[in-house]
Amino acid sequence: MSQTFDVVVIGGGISGCSTAFQLAQRGLKVALLEKDNIGAGPSGKSSAIIRQHYSNELTARMALYSLRVFQNFEEQVGGECGFTRTGFVCVVAAKDLAGLEANVALQRRVGIQTELLSPESVREIMPALETADVVRAAYEPESGYADPYLTVNAYADAARRVGVKIFQETEVTGVRFAAGKVVGVDTPKEKFDAPLVLNCAGPWAARVARMVGVEAPINPCRVQVSLFVRPAGHEAAHPVIADFIHATYFRSETGQLTLVGLIDPGEANAIVNPDNFKEQVDPDFVLDSGERLIRRFPPMERSQSTGGYAALYDITPDWHPIIDEVPAGSGFFICAGFSGHGFKLGPAVGVMAADLLTRSGTPEFDPSIFRLSRYAEDQPVRGQYEYSIAG
Ligand SMILES: Cc1cc2nc3c(=O)[nH]c(=O)nc-3n(C[C@H](O)[C@H](O)[C@H](O)COP(=O)(O)OP(=O)(O)OC[C@H]3O[C@@H](n4cnc5c(N)ncnc54)[C@H](O)[C@@H]3O)c2cc1C
Repeated sequence: MSQTFDVVVIGGGISGCSTAFQLAQRGLKVALLEKDNIGAGPSGKSSAIIRQHYSNELTARMALYSLRVFQNFEEQVGGECGFTRTGFVCVVAAKDLAGLEANVALQRRVGIQTELLSPESVREIMPALETADVVRAAYEPESGYADPYLTVNAYADAARRVGVKIFQETEVTGVRFAAGKVVGVDTPKEKFDAPLVLNCAGPWAARVARMVGVEAPINPCRVQVSLFVRPAGHEAAHPVIADFIHATYFRSETGQLTLVGLIDPGEANAIVNPDNFKEQVDPDFVLDSGERLIRRFPPMERSQSTGGYAALYDITPDWHPIIDEVPAGSGFFICAGFSGHGFKLGPAVGVMAADLLTRSGTPEFDPSIFRLSRYAEDQPVRGQYEYSIAG
C-alpha cells in the first residue's frame, strides 16, 4: 500500500516540524515521518538558548528572525514555546576583543539589539559574576531560552492544523529513485510516494543521505549537560552566560537550577553510534563543568549537583548545516548538521528550506553558503572571529 504526497519530510525535530508547517501553509500536501516520537531526538533535549550572537550576517539575520517568532509564538505558530527572556551575556578575554567588537558591529547592522559592556557593567546585570579576567562582554537584553520539547510539539501541532500528516514510530528505511528523480520513501509499514523528499534526520542524516548514494559529512557526537541547584540568595533566574574564557555556557532552568554545557570544538571528536550511546552524564563531566561554573559564578561553590544527561550534536566540518538539494535537480534535499546551534534558528530554517523546496524566486534567506559542495571547494562557512563554533 502507498500514500501520495507532494513532500515527505524525514525527522520530527524542530527543523522537520518547522519546515513541514511552512510547506503546508504554501498549499503543499506534506507527510512528516518520525522514527520515534516528535521531539524525542536532540531537539527535545536541547538547552534551547535563544541568542543572536552570530559571526556571519546570514546566521545573525536568521537568529533575529527566529527570536521574533519565539517572542510572538502563540500568534505566529500557536501553542506555547516557553520563551523566557533573561538576557544573554557573552564574555571574552583580551585575545578575542577585536573579534567581539567586529561581531557586535555586524549584529547591530542587521538590527540586533546588542551592545558592548565593560566588566563593571556586566556586574550590574549579574552582580555575582566573576569578571576579573573579562576584558569586554556582548550583551543582548532580548535573548533567553525556550522549552525545547514544548516548542517542537507546538510546531508539530501547528503543522497538523494546516494539514500535515504526521506519522510517528515510522522509520524511513529506503529512498526510491526513478530516472534520477526521487519518487518516494519506504518504511517497514508502508510506502510513501512524493516527488520531493527532505532529510531533516539530524544525527542520522548522513545515514539517510547514504540511502541515495550521497556522502554528507555529518557526525553524530555525544555532548553532555550538567545541572546544579542554586544556593540560597541566588534563587532568581540569571542571564544566559556564554563564557568563552572557560569554554562553557550556562543558563537558568526551572526549579532553581542552573544548566551547564561546554563550548568546545573537541566535542566533534566524540563520534558515537546514534542508536546506542551512553545517555547518562559522566561523573567527571559534572565535576569539570561544575568547577568551570564556580570560576565564573563563585556562589555556586555552595550548590548541589542534580546530575545531567548526554545527547547528540550533528556536527559538520565547519559547524554549520548542510541545506541543499543533492544531487541537484533530484528532488532530494538535506537540511541537517546544525552542530549544536540549530534550535534557535528553527523558525528561520523552516522558511529557508520551504523556499528551497518550492524554488521560490525571492527566498527570504539564501541557503547557498550551506551547499554540500562547499567542503570539496574548500569554501567552509567561516565566522569573523576565532570562537566561531558559536556560529
Ligand atoms: C544538549 C544539547 C544542547 C543544545 N543546546 C542548544 C542551544 O542552546 N541553542 C541552540 O540553538 N541549539 C542547541 N542545540 C542544538 C539543537 O538542539 C539542534 O541543532 C536542533 O535541535 C536540531 O534539530 P533537527 O530537527 O535538525 O534534528 P533532530 O532534533 O536531531 O531531529 C531529527 C529527527 O529525525 C528522526 N529520524 C532520524 N532518522 C530517521 C529515519 N530514518 N526515519 C524517520 N525519522 C528519523 C530522529 O528520531 C529525530 O527525531 C543543542 C543540542 C543538544 C543535544
